[in-house]
Amino acid sequence: MLHNVNHIGIAVQSLEDSIGFYRDALAMPLKGIEEIAGQKVRVAMLQVGESKIELLEPTSADSPIARFLEKNGPGIHHIAYEVADIEAAIAQLTQSGVRMIDESPRAGAHDSRIAFLHPKSSGGVLTELCQVKSS
Ligand code: ZN
Repeated sequence: MLHNVNHIGIAVQSLEDSIGFYRDALAMPLKGIEEIAGQKVRVAMLQVGESKIELLEPTSADSPIARFLEKNGPGIHHIAYEVADIEAAIAQLTQSGVRMIDESPRAGAHDSRIAFLHPKSSGGVLTELCQVKSS
């Protein structure tokens, strides 16, 4: 069902202050920055092999990322696994008794479709399913 770790999401106060470490010190190519209005975040994607690091900056005080930063400070926010068929993956997980935050997919970065599992079902690790746009 899962293909690979597509990305690891990291909550940051500021993309501008955080990108340098990954792009310059770790020499990870910056793939792009985009705003996802529905989730009130700005996202920077940096490539590492077949996986990515997704830096998440809140764009408003009521962003879920703003609340995360308030509670935990900057750090790892979620792990995203790549799936070929996100509807099938959600159905399979639901059938296995896993609780989903998103019972149907929503729009993610770079035209991907994503769905979050409920952290109560994943040992406190916020877990995302991610179906990338087939090109
Ligand atoms: Zn993500």
